[in-house]
Amino acid sequence: MGGLCVSSGAMPTEQPYLLNPGPVNVHPDVKRAIAGPDWCHREPEFFALQRRVRAGLLRVLSVDAQRWASVLLTGSGTCAVEAMISSFVPRGGGLVVVSNGVYGDRIAKMGRAHGAEVVEVISDPSVAPDLGAVERAIVEAKARGVKLTTLAAVHHETTTGLLNPVEAIGAIARHHGLAFVLDAVSSLAGEAIDLEACCVDAAACTANKCFEGLAGICFVVLRREALARLAPEPARTLYLHLPSYLAKQDADDTPFTPAVQVLMALDVAVKLLDEEGLARRLARYAGYAKIVRDGVERLGLRLWLPKELRSNTITTIAMPAGLTYERLHDAMRDAGFVIYAGQGDLRTKAFRIANMGRLPEAELARAIDVLGTTLRG
Ligand SMILES: *Cc1c(COP(=O)(O)O)cnc(C)c1O
Repeated sequence: MGGLCVSSGAMPTEQPYLLNPGPVNVHPDVKRAIAGPDWCHREPEFFALQRRVRAGLLRVLSVDAQRWASVLLTGSGTCAVEAMISSFVPRGGGLVVVSNGVYGDRIAKMGRAHGAEVVEVISDPSVAPDLGAVERAIVEAKARGVKLTTLAAVHHETTTGLLNPVEAIGAIARHHGLAFVLDAVSSLAGEAIDLEACCVDAAACTANKCFEGLAGICFVVLRREALARLAPEPARTLYLHLPSYLAKQDADDTPFTPAVQVLMALDVAVKLLDEEGLARRLARYAGYAKIVRDGVERLGLRLWLPKELRSNTITTIAMPAGLTYERLHDAMRDAGFVIYAGQGDLRTKAFRIANMGRLPEAELARAIDVLGTTLRG
């Protein structure tokens, strides 16, 4: 596959390789799935699809199908996170957020938007969070009379590609009797995580990152008992109320019209993940990341994060002197690759190359070559 056949700004006529953190390049069968039959979402054929996808998600994530449930929602990843946050903080409850990037901050904003008392523990996006500060913030908030119920964190902070210490954060939540909810939008099926061992009560994710489905469906994988314990009564929101979705979906129903065809695509994506196996998916992504990182370092560029904090799927690279993101982006795009700018404060200091989705290794190597040519240009 060649370049995009674009002059700057025009629509690509060929398929670009997406080196952004979602949406991702998918298997042709996933795309074909949306050309399936037109179905009503209140008929048995849809319910069979819904059951199959819900069970498949639990299976590929290796959680107990009795005690855990997956809830499907129609929307982007943020929809799943907001459903989780608004459903796991009861009225009068308080939310602690471990925040070291754009997505941690977004969780805090959601909590405030829903009227929860929010304690945001902010740390630098380039370092692991200070867990002592999280402990102290919890103790201090309780001493102020805040009725903390929930602790939230981001597994893979996509802002930088940093993996947060979920197991240690989960242990803090457990110790203080808080529900632990996780934004795992860019990490489920891309990073190894044992949801049980990490004391996770709910994890939000989307179809179109490491699951390699299409944009439009997202989901929350949750411990039934934890949701039952914290479900706010009455609901904070009508459309995002997880207990309503769970009750309906358990009864072969759905509260609203879902993106039926996108769910058909996720069904195929889950089947492909099942066939590939989660371990091999993770190894494939780690292999992609190695090509990117080795290549970038060979070009003399600096990786933003120390090795021990890096994920399988995002490489943040310090912007070399004399190069602007716009020039780099356009040169890569002309060669058929979509890269991603730094986010938040990193906008001018760094850029990102993601490696989620289906990417031929030879094309990743070519992307590094184009990067090198642009640097020398
Ligand atoms: C992509 C992402 C989201 C959700 O983004 P959407 O644009 O709503 O799909 C949330 N959290 C993290 C960590 C993400 O990477």
